[in-house]
Amino acid sequence: MTIFQKIIDKEIPANIVYEDEVALAFHDVHPQAPLHILVIPKKPIVNIATASVEDKSILGHLMLVCAEIARSEGVAEDGYRLITNVNSWGGQSVYHLHIHLLAKRQMGWPPG
Ligand code: AMP
Repeated sequence: MTIFQKIIDKEIPANIVYEDEVALAFHDVHPQAPLHILVIPKKPIVNIATASVEDKSILGHLMLVCAEIARSEGVAEDGYRLITNVNSWGGQSVYHLHIHLLAKRQMGWPPG
């Protein structure tokens, strides 16, 4: 079981900013920007590489939740970055799909 599953099950605390039947969003414990929120599906999808066509509506929903949170956090106009890391070379450390929403600073390119 991943740490994110424990957050979904409310076994460990998180600073939750959004929740519905499909998605959960909470602040990252090691923020990489002044605003760093993780948006995850409640379904235990490992990462985008393992998602199937059955997950299409979940994946679309997660993106729309990111945009909604960005609006509610007041960062939509200035801008933000969405990232999902996949497996070892992608830098994934928690094997439950998540989208990083990073904001409130200028993002660099290329990413590290
Ligand atoms: P990744 O490296 O893309 O798999 O991202 C995992 C993220 O989860 C990292 O940015 C961690 O800081 C974050 N993280 C790990 N444990 C927790 C936790 N208990 N609550 C909130 N964020 C966490």
